[in-house]
Amino acid sequence: MRHDESRALYDRALSVIPGGVNSSVRATRPYPFFVEHGDGAHVVDADGNRYLDYVMGYGPLLYGHDMPEPVRAAVQSHASDGPMYGAPTEVEVELAEFVARHVPSVEMTRFVNSGTEATVSAVRLARGYTGRDKIVVMQGGYHGAQESTLVEGAFENAEPSSPGIPSSFAEHTIPVPFNDAEAAERVFEEHGDEIAAVLVEPILANTGIVMPVDGYHERLRELTEEHGALLIFDEVITGFRVGGLQCAQGKFGVTPDVTTFGKIVGGGFPVGAIGGKAEILESFTPSGDVFQSGTFSGHPVTMAAGYEYLKYAAEHDVYEHVNRLGERLREGISDIAADQAPSYTVVGTDSMFKTVFTREGPAGSDGVGDSHVCDAGCRQDESCARYDHCPKTGADVANAETERWERIFWQEMKDRGIFLTANQFESQFVSYAHTDEDVEETLEAYKEAL
Ligand code: PMP
Repeated sequence: MRHDESRALYDRALSVIPGGVNSSVRATRPYPFFVEHGDGAHVVDADGNRYLDYVMGYGPLLYGHDMPEPVRAAVQSHASDGPMYGAPTEVEVELAEFVARHVPSVEMTRFVNSGTEATVSAVRLARGYTGRDKIVVMQGGYHGAQESTLVEGAFENAEPSSPGIPSSFAEHTIPVPFNDAEAAERVFEEHGDEIAAVLVEPILANTGIVMPVDGYHERLRELTEEHGALLIFDEVITGFRVGGLQCAQGKFGVTPDVTTFGKIVGGGFPVGAIGGKAEILESFTPSGDVFQSGTFSGHPVTMAAGYEYLKYAAEHDVYEHVNRLGERLREGISDIAADQAPSYTVVGTDSMFKTVFTREGPAGSDGVGDSHVCDAGCRQDESCARYDHCPKTGADVANAETERWERIFWQEMKDRGIFLTANQFESQFVSYAHTDEDVEETLEAYKEAL
């Protein structure tokens, strides 16, 4: 593969864009390929190389790179009509109604422009609504580039994880290990009346994919209720991806007070959203006094794309298709790993998948020939043979051979024309544009690369 054009573009970018990219995960080594255009499940780079794409914009592109016809028509018509006004439009009401109809916990939605903005606003909402300051988050969880959640450490010893954030922000954030109900209980025992909210991804989706163990979210629901704190599900990735239109909260049967969305709900355009009970959401200005505002919020083009995206999913076999291919990939990779690399673990559910380069095989076995998929089925049951070796916390993934993914495996796959997420921690996504033939090609590449 030639990469002359991408390399030249990267050189130009390095002079005028910090690190050459506008989002740090894009700075793949030794240099990123620059995309020229998308085509179904593929992207074509500036040198004409074609890749089968499982990055899918880091999650939003449920249909791949070609918009279904109703989405394209709505986007084009709203773009040429406006494109935006600073006054409300019908399509934002339609999208909010659609979300309220399908997502169990949502009565009202406020739309914003990114997942980060959604979690920033949700945290402010929880603090304003409860009159409390502390936020409990998960170690290894990710809620975007926001001051209150960019922390490292545990319990009362959280520190900002980036320069530029005063440590006073971290004083109000309590990170606990995911899936550890006792740790959450302890924190509530000590700080119960200071905690505004527990903010948690239903599935840790930015740390190699970690499934919740049975009963964990139920326990968080009880604890928050007992102590007058809010339970916030960050469904920026899982929303309209896991559990179909009901999202992960529908799949797991746990109803949060507030949900943050992003990615798919904007149909490929910049978006975030905060949904929840009317009584809580009405604390936002102008109905309440928790300040929230945005020039581009509820942008007509985004709202139209999101609404048509979700309507299309309601009317076609979209989730059936992506989930079936997701399962084929997970099972197929698992079979290859069992033969060639028995200590590796396949994680994911629905249309999400990733391989974790764990160091040890399944507990109590030599690993050879065992199934390696850590999915929704296994989380239910401690007697499941795979349960012990499935990652339970962010640390379980971070302790694996994370460098092996990026330095070796990701490159090997890219050289075979398969575009995966470049670091160990980011999930991969199947779209409606992927086919059974694509899955076969991908498994063939995994076989060679593993
Ligand atoms: N929350 C979660 C769970 C995410 O995965 C992300 C981004 N991947 C965000 C929040 C931030 O969203 P954005 O990048 O749109 O700001």
